[in-house]
Amino acid sequence: MTLGETLERNGISRRGFLKFCVTTASLMALPPTAATAIAEALASARRPSVIWLSFQECTGCTESLTRSFAPTLENLILETISLDYHHTLQAAAGEAAELAREQAMHANEGKYLLVVDGSLPGPGSNPGYSTIAGISNLQMLEETVAGAAAVVAVGTCAAFGGLPVADPNPTGAVPVSAVVRDKPVINVSGCPPLPMVITGVLAHYLTFGKLPELDEYGRPLAFFGQSIHDRCYRRPFYDKGRFAETFDDEGAKKGWCLYRLGCKGPMAYNACATMKWNGGTSWPIESGHPCLGCSEPDFWDAGGFYKALSVPTGNIGGTAAVAGLAGVAAGAVGGYLSGRAKKDARTAHRQVTADELEQKL
Ligand code: SF4
Ligand code: SF4
Repeated sequence: MTLGETLERNGISRRGFLKFCVTTASLMALPPTAATAIAEALASARRPSVIWLSFQECTGCTESLTRSFAPTLENLILETISLDYHHTLQAAAGEAAELAREQAMHANEGKYLLVVDGSLPGPGSNPGYSTIAGISNLQMLEETVAGAAAVVAVGTCAAFGGLPVADPNPTGAVPVSAVVRDKPVINVSGCPPLPMVITGVLAHYLTFGKLPELDEYGRPLAFFGQSIHDRCYRRPFYDKGRFAETFDDEGAKKGWCLYRLGCKGPMAYNACATMKWNGGTSWPIESGHPCLGCSEPDFWDAGGFYKALSVPTGNIGGTAAVAGLAGVAAGAVGGYLSGRAKKDARTAHRQVTADELEQKL
């Protein structure tokens, strides 16, 4: 059964499916023709086999995918892949679970996608620090990656080591890329990562048969190509030198920039500012908390969460005096700026509408 047929059987309307394709193409900054290609390829794609291994992790990455507010189309896309092994989600346990992994590996040799969340004790570490079914994480990864087409390292732990690697790294943990050298590895970092980034990477692979363009850290450029700071709706306050100094001062109440409260937005690359969390409801900076920079290497050892970055970037304070004269209600300004930033982001990303796509197909 193709993905298109599966979606139809699940009651997903053609329009809903096309909207997903348009959103995926625009979020990945693909050209207008890509939405059509994605729709055609996904509709006729067979369910790919995916084996998901969880090593030294907290299950937050899996929860990020499963705790969405409504059964969105991207969830169903995920459900319609053949998730042949995922020891948090699968019903099977023990020998039956391991048998499922082996069968999926043999039946789809060279074609399955391997998804990994969590870091693993590296070569030379005590293998007993983390085992599944009596096998060390390292052995299971080496066994499973041998027949995989590509590897998706989901979450900062799998991508860069994350929390287990934090000083003093008691288990000698390493990220997936330290072990896998002969297969393409794509890092979908974040603690946890945005669900749509994971499904976007899978959609891209299904459509084009290859992984998307990556940045220097192996992350998909479409989602990690710009900093949080570049897309932040509080950026005009940063540029005007208006900063909250505490979490309950007037600046915080007026929605000013959180740089001095430790915001890592200027050095963090992720898509939270445009895609948001909880079904597009909000994101950390919108709820009044600085960005922690969870999608970056050395996340846990990069300095205190609430310590301001030591090197100011951009035009801090350059127009502070002018801003000080404005005397307008900053709440209203914040709302206006937020609305304008959202509109700008939408304009920048929107390349083709669902209506246009419907006419093409
Ligand atoms: S990246 Fe974050 S959410 Fe994912 S496993 Fe590591 S600590 Fe948990
Ligand atoms: S420092 Fe943080 S809050 Fe301020 S503009 Fe940059 S990302 Fe937004």
